[in-house]
Amino acid sequence: MTDSRPLASVSLDVDNLWSYLKTHGDAGWEQRPSYYDVFFPTVLPVLDELGIRLTFFIVGRDAAVPAHAPHLQAVIAAGHEVGNHSFEHEPWLDRYPPDRIAREINDAEEAILAASGQRTIGFRGPGYSWSPALFEVLVDRGYLYDASTLPTYLGPLARAYYFWTARLTPAQREERATLFGGARDGLRPVRPYRWALPSGRTLLEIPVTTMPGIKIPFHLSYLLYLSRVSETAMIAYLRTALMMCRVTGTEPSFLLHPLDLLGGDQAPALRFFPGMDLTGKRKIELFARVMRTLGTHFSLVNMSTHAREIIARPTLASRTAVSGRATMPAAAPAPAGQSGA
Ligand SMILES: [Zn+2]
Repeated sequence: MTDSRPLASVSLDVDNLWSYLKTHGDAGWEQRPSYYDVFFPTVLPVLDELGIRLTFFIVGRDAAVPAHAPHLQAVIAAGHEVGNHSFEHEPWLDRYPPDRIAREINDAEEAILAASGQRTIGFRGPGYSWSPALFEVLVDRGYLYDASTLPTYLGPLARAYYFWTARLTPAQREERATLFGGARDGLRPVRPYRWALPSGRTLLEIPVTTMPGIKIPFHLSYLLYLSRVSETAMIAYLRTALMMCRVTGTEPSFLLHPLDLLGGDQAPALRFFPGMDLTGKRKIELFARVMRTLGTHFSLVNMSTHAREIIARPTLASRTAVSGRATMPAAAPAPAGQSGA
């Protein structure tokens, strides 16, 4: 480490155009329309200028497209790393049987390795989905960490909004019944901890950080939403969240998405999505301001760097019993001093 500031890890889930259309229930997603050709040439120079090296969580289905390989190689050449974001990006992954989960992880890992030249050692579930069986697969394959949890009480609210806005059949609604998790996800720790798995093994969990205490998200999509009220409100909210992180000793894991940087002018098919009336230029201005604010208080690193630092510390919280969020009772609260805020 070159400075003594606490760390903040930065990651970007590369959800592609087709996956937004699919989740929204729009026709045409089966042709897998992609904005890789626009997104990566836009984002890589911006990150370079800001001096940020982050983790791109890649969907296997996209890595398997030959035309995408040069973009993933450019990601590695620029000093970033790639993570596994499942093969099909189905947010109901947690409801799959273990053999299908294993295929999702393995196929994505192989496709990303073939395209980028880098083997993935971290995972984030699509739509924050996870299950004990999924964690066992990650440990089997030697993964360093999972980053699939979003500890917030707002999951059911997000799901209600999604059901209200998407065009879904009754069968699709049933399939998506646990999307974005339940209120009990708010009970999970904000700070990193180890899952204790049914097999007796453990896995490091780095949650997407929500504001310590009240557990409201502050990832960039959420901040952009606030910027509609005013940019000052957005920055004030971010500063409050970061101050709460500092006073609770929470090193944030900060989450980004392509639509945080792409404007409606660059992805016209997604104009239905909140915030897509902003131009790409405006989003990059806001992005740069947010990242500079984050970088004022924290040393920004990728996920595996953060994971290795956490593992090396004697203070890593020991174990939180794993339980499936759809079918099991709420996870046992972590013992005192282990749960973060
Ligand atoms: Zn995603």
